[in-house]
Amino acid sequence: MALTITDECINCDVCEPECPNQAIFLGVEHYEIDGNRCTECVGHYDEPQCVALCPVACIPVDPSRIESRETLWQKFRRLQAENSALPAKNRPPVL
Ligand code: SF4
Ligand code: SF4
Repeated sequence: MALTITDECINCDVCEPECPNQAIFLGVEHYEIDGNRCTECVGHYDEPQCVALCPVACIPVDPSRIESRETLWQKFRRLQAENSALPAKNRPPVL
């Protein structure tokens, strides 16, 4: 499953730098999650880092993005392949 950020977000900036997939970005009103990049932290951590850190618990599962663990793993592998194709200076840091 990918996660989503609700309008209860207080834009505290805590989650964005902790996402290992660079899936979180500042939208028009509040932070948002790119469902094509969110693996629910599969491949990196045992639990979603954004959920663990959010002070207002505003990051539920996106009901329109129900995905199996296998699908999330495949997404992780795709993102890794995309990252490795980037020039070294443009790659996200290894967490
Ligand atoms: S669950 Fe993990 S991959 Fe998804 S947005 Fe949160 S920190 Fe990023
Ligand atoms: S940690 Fe929660 S409140 Fe803070 S920016 Fe992220 S989603 Fe919003």
